[in-house]
Amino acid sequence: MPSKEKSAAAEVSIYKFYKVEDDKLIRSRRECPRCGRGVFMAEHKNRNTCGKCGFTEFRRSDESKKQTSKS
Ligand SMILES: [Zn+2]
Repeated sequence: MPSKEKSAAAEVSIYKFYKVEDDKLIRSRRECPRCGRGVFMAEHKNRNTCGKCGFTEFRRSDESKKQTSKS
């Protein structure tokens, strides 16, 4: 009768890397260039729109950083 002994690996060091992120969401509020200061534009997925005058500003999300360095 084989006695099964479960040898629990107690010495397992688990390193938890906590990614410290600021709770602050850095929101770059865009002000409407038409209405001027004080009028912030609504943030959409890929564009900012002004609810006051309807100005739409598309913002590029995919900024391809290409560095063509040829020596
Ligand atoms: Zn506006």
